[in-house]
Amino acid sequence: MTHCPECEAVLDMEEDDVEEGQTLNCPECDAELEVVSTNPVELDVVSGGDEEEEGEDW
Ligand SMILES: [Zn+2]
Repeated sequence: MTHCPECEAVLDMEEDDVEEGQTLNCPECDAELEVVSTNPVELDVVSGGDEEEEGEDW
């Protein structure tokens, strides 16, 4: 089971469906995610725009 690293939503995908380096958007939080590994599937958040990784307390 793969989870969104941003919002922990369960992403129902299989290794066959994705390729390493592929990017996709989380259906829950719309974060852009990059497939960094396919076995098992691991996702990493692609930092978009000029936002820092964590900018909550500004
Ligand atoms: Zn998400």
